[in-house]
Amino acid sequence: MSKAGFPVYRDVCGWNAMLPHRQAKARASGSIRVRYAVVGAGYTGLAAARRLHELDPDASIAVLEATTVGEGASARNSGFMTPSDSKIGLSLGEMDRAEQLNAFSKEGYSYLTGLMQAGGIECDLERSGRVTAAATDQGADKIRTMIDGAKAHGFAHQALDREALAGLIGSRYYQCGIRIDEGYLVQPAALVRGLADTLPAGVALYENSPVLDLQHGPQWLLRTPEAVVTADVVVLATNAAIKQFGFWRDGLVTIYTFAGITEAMDAHDAAQLGIKPWGLLPAHRLGTTVRRIGADRLMVRSLYAYEKPLDPGHVEQQLTSCFHRRYPALAHVPMQYIWGGTTALTMNGSPRWGRIKDRLFGSAGCNGSGIVKGTLLGKRLAEMIVTGDPQEALQAVYGRANRIAPEPFRTIGFHAVSAYQRRKAGLEM
Ligand SMILES: Cc1cc2nc3c(=O)[nH]c(=O)nc-3n(C[C@H](O)[C@H](O)[C@H](O)COP(=O)(O)OP(=O)(O)OC[C@H]3O[C@@H](n4cnc5c(N)ncnc54)[C@H](O)[C@@H]3O)c2cc1C
Repeated sequence: MSKAGFPVYRDVCGWNAMLPHRQAKARASGSIRVRYAVVGAGYTGLAAARRLHELDPDASIAVLEATTVGEGASARNSGFMTPSDSKIGLSLGEMDRAEQLNAFSKEGYSYLTGLMQAGGIECDLERSGRVTAAATDQGADKIRTMIDGAKAHGFAHQALDREALAGLIGSRYYQCGIRIDEGYLVQPAALVRGLADTLPAGVALYENSPVLDLQHGPQWLLRTPEAVVTADVVVLATNAAIKQFGFWRDGLVTIYTFAGITEAMDAHDAAQLGIKPWGLLPAHRLGTTVRRIGADRLMVRSLYAYEKPLDPGHVEQQLTSCFHRRYPALAHVPMQYIWGGTTALTMNGSPRWGRIKDRLFGSAGCNGSGIVKGTLLGKRLAEMIVTGDPQEALQAVYGRANRIAPEPFRTIGFHAVSAYQRRKAGLEM
């Protein structure tokens, strides 16, 4: 996190760089009066703003984004989406909860794909299936549990051995895996840009407009470098950056993770990337994500850092090594883009969500699966605000993020746990 409290990236998001230039919307300036102010134009904030407009169409709505759409974390991710909960959706131990989580994920996914269709958003949405694969014996145990879970939930799936995986992704790196049919890939920068650029006329988006200060009075006052926004109701959709406003510091950790995309390959090299499209998640949560992009590129996502980014040279060396270990025959293909992005982690995987205080609401902590979950939580937050429905069912199913130990125990604990988990992850990294 930067000193300002919101992420300021020094690198360029590769997904955004591969798209044609987009003209950012104007900065907020002067005095702006709205009914609803939404802070953050990621999946959560954009869904909240759009749903507020659907439910309260005459109300004025401002969305304030610190950076430009396409350079925030919503564009910097790997682009995996699923209509079932990606973390415990296959759980055997918590069948009922898994079913309910899957129903919420489905709602988020349907809302998002509905917006893609209605807005004609071109974001390379592909039904790729979702492969989870193991490179270690421990990972293989997890895959067997997932296969049992898929059977129990009636998810269409395939169990994959090394040969089957090699046929699919062109690499013999993994021992075994599972492929669930219900998995999708998107170009995340194209998606979030499309969502922002198809906002209805009643929603004003301001970019390069960080909210530096939030004050409570008869109305809320939000100060940006060039504007004062007065709002009756405020939604903080800044993910972990909500801590900059003094909220939820005890429950959220900012985690940086990193990704790289290769140069476009020639036909001979691209023929070694398996059958397109595919996306592969690691069996261990600290492992490496890999996906094929279109016909001729590969993306690798790996590494985690606590609260601040890693040295760019180290990131490049590690991501390149992840790529080469999986595709030694493609070691001559350079990485074209390498970048980092933030996500918000909570101890137990539950988000922090809902009313914070008088007419102030927030959502944070999608734990690495915010495309669908952020959309769902933003949409439901708007429903809570406009209809007054306390959303008890949602809160009961997602649960509430646990408190995290205060500093310095938090930092010490994070480094100890991640060193242990990194050792456990081994070749999954
Ligand atoms: C490398 C990487 C890979 C990932 N892979 C996946 C994946 O495959 N699938 C998936 O579902 N998720 C993935 N994630 C996680 C996903 O990107 C996040 O969960 C998602 O971006 C959360 O959306 P959000 O809208 O809640 O928050 P964000 O996307 O972080 O949006 C919050 C916005 O608020 C803005 N902001 C912050 N402070 C202020 C302020 N003071 N004033 C104004 N604006 C402010 C930020 O600039 C930002 O644009 C990945 C994340 C990373 C980094």
